[in-house]
Amino acid sequence: MTVILDGKSLADKICEQLKSETQKLSKKPKLAVIYAGDNPASQIYVKNKQKKADYIGFDSVVISLPNDVTEENLLEHIYILNEDDDVNGILVQLPLPEGINTQKIIEAIEPVKDCDGFTAYNFGRLALGYKPYAYPCTPKGIVKLLEHYNIKLQSSHTVVIGRSNIVGKPVSLLLQQKNSTVTMVNSYTKNLKDITKTADILISAAGLPNFITKEFIKNNAVIVDVGINRTEYGLTGDVDFNDCFESASFITPVPGGIGPMTIAMLMENTLELYKIQRLFKI
Ligand code: NAD
Repeated sequence: MTVILDGKSLADKICEQLKSETQKLSKKPKLAVIYAGDNPASQIYVKNKQKKADYIGFDSVVISLPNDVTEENLLEHIYILNEDDDVNGILVQLPLPEGINTQKIIEAIEPVKDCDGFTAYNFGRLALGYKPYAYPCTPKGIVKLLEHYNIKLQSSHTVVIGRSNIVGKPVSLLLQQKNSTVTMVNSYTKNLKDITKTADILISAAGLPNFITKEFIKNNAVIVDVGINRTEYGLTGDVDFNDCFESASFITPVPGGIGPMTIAMLMENTLELYKIQRLFKI
């Protein structure tokens, strides 16, 4: 029987634990989110992140900047937040408006406040197999969800569709550290189906609505759908859930799968950074 990987329920449990831990702290952790532009999806993500931070008991601030914000202005905000001892986590909501050098902006964040784990320092440590201050939220959430359901990672073959810096690359690194054999594919890969059909675990982060049908998967594969695609029919993942359901042993829904896990990991990272920063002060 196919099991639905219920990311929402695990994320809620994690957030409850974070809330109870936060209540015991003498000072609240603080998350700062910088958001530039008018991307409607980003607006929803930012609102959800702030809502969750408030629920857990963190202080939070959202700095909303116009679409024509300059790099200098963005950098100034980051420098101020870097210096502010009350701020423990800094997140820059992506994508940034056109013309802004994303790498330059992310690199301005103090690694110890980089709650997304996107700076070269944190990502580099992840790549080398050292502990970063924070692991990227979506990959961390994927691994946590798989482990929660006791899905065997060691010696499994994982195929990751997509090689972005925020999902594909870091989740591949994390899974290799768990001794999975990882194959990464991208939009130039030939004979994609032949590869995906060999996967014990298939992770799709391509951003293509209902792209993965049962022809792409092996019987009893574990299917992780990272995609969040807005279509005229509403929100959908990369995986055609109904088509793949019977063939899969485990499958994530969209919504209710990786999305809530990502937000929970952001909250967990913020609390962890808070603790690290307090340690530094002693
Ligand atoms: P991206 O656009 O940066 O990267 C997409 C990747 O998919 C690229 O590496 C590309 O080569 C690959 N790809 C595209 N078409 C392909 C094809 N036909 N065959 C094989 N590979 C193909 O995307 P991203 O930022 O990693 O996001 C991917 C999806 O995940 C999007 O839908 C995004 O909204 C979603 N996302 C969800 C969460 C979450 O919390 N659930 C977090 C981040 C991103």
